[in-house]
Order: sequence, then structure tokens, then C-alpha cells
Amino acid sequence: MKPIIGIASSYKMGGKKGGRLESYVKAVEAAGGIPIILVPLGEAGNLDLQLNILAGLLLTGGGDIDPLHYGEEPQQCLGTIEPARDRYELCLTQLAAERKMPILGVCRGMQVLNVALGGSLHQDISTAIKGALKHRQEAPVWYPTHSIRIGEGSKTHKILGAKSIRVNSLHHQAVDRAGENLIIAAKSKGDGVVEAIEGKGNLPYLGVQWHPEALQANDFSTAIFRWFVSTAREYGQKGTL
Ligand code: MN
Repeated sequence: MKPIIGIASSYKMGGKKGGRLESYVKAVEAAGGIPIILVPLGEAGNLDLQLNILAGLLLTGGGDIDPLHYGEEPQQCLGTIEPARDRYELCLTQLAAERKMPILGVCRGMQVLNVALGGSLHQDISTAIKGALKHRQEAPVWYPTHSIRIGEGSKTHKILGAKSIRVNSLHHQAVDRAGENLIIAAKSKGDGVVEAIEGKGNLPYLGVQWHPEALQANDFSTAIFRWFVSTAREYGQKGTL
């Protein structure tokens, strides 16, 4: 059976950035999952009902998270926030984590995963980290522009089968303190910016700061979606659906 993967989205993604939503859908389908699009709901009680039909949760890219959610006041460098999307995705992620449902977070999605589990973010890399690399590339999105080092023995290492890869980079925020049950699995070479987080032990959570769905025909990208979909299939078959 093919697992149903919920792709957390935003009403705003249908605009000029709609192409990005399409690449998540294609990546999930190519990996053997059935993608369905989720948009923010207002009623907290409906979120468990949504999760009942899912085998995996994909948290996608987007704007900044309101720093209120990790106990900070907004700095000058904070970008656009979407309060309803923040509330919805943070709550959905907490509920999915309570079920130990497989979660893949991409870019903002990785940050949502981290904040939902009690972690914090750097509101702006260039302000927070001296000598930071260029993490908001002006090169095409499909082109990898910086290198990351992957922790040996981590889940991320097993999935990618490499200790170092090159990734694309379209973010100005990054994980600072890792949330509960999460570990830092990869860092950017040169400035140590967190580029991947994962669940401790067997917890099926992975967050990547880059955009694997947008990289051109790349084995490392398909490996991430294959891991996610096959883990979701196992979760679905356990009778948790
Ligand atoms: Mn980066």
C-alpha cells in the first residue's frame, strides 16, 4: 500500500512560489507516496482527525516563525510571518510527534519541527553568526552552493551515505538550540550553521535546511524522500492508521 503523505502548505503558496509546492508533490510521488495538501485549519480539535488519515507529515519551506514561539522578541532582521500557519503547523507537528509519525521538515519545515519540540532559532544568520557564509543564494535553486558536514553514525549519514555533500541554500534563519528528542546531524562547512536535525534513537524525524525537492536529479535528494516514504509506509502498516 502507498502511504498518504500530508504536505503542510499555506494559502500563499499558490502564488508566484506555487512551483515550489509542485516540486514537493513530485518528490513524494516519485518516492512512492500519495501526497495530499494540508492548509492551516482554525480548529485545534480537527488536527488529530487530519493526522488519522496520514502516514507521514512533510513540513515545507516558507517565511519566518514568530519568535514568540521560542520565547524571543522580534529583532529588526525578522522577515514575514504568518501567524495562522505558525499556530497550525506547530500544533500539528506536536500531535504527529506524540504519535511518533514520520516527519520530514524542509527549510522552514525543519525550523517548525525544532520549535514545535521546544528548540530555538537564530532570527538572522548574518546577525547572529560572525563570518557566516552566503545562505541565501542568488544562484538558481537547483544548484548547490555550499558544503555541509554530516555527523558520522547519524540517521542522516545512513540515509545519504556520505559524510559531506553540497546543498542549495535559501534561508536566513537557522536552528540554534535543538528541541527535545532532536539532535544536530549536519552543519555547514566553514560557519557551523545547523543544516540537519533528526530524531534521537529510532524517532523517525528528519529536518534539512536545504531544499532537496528542488535540486536537479540528485541521488542525495531522492534518498531523503525514499527514506521518508518507506518509513511512512512502515508506520502505516503498524496499524497506527
Ligand atoms: Mn545553508
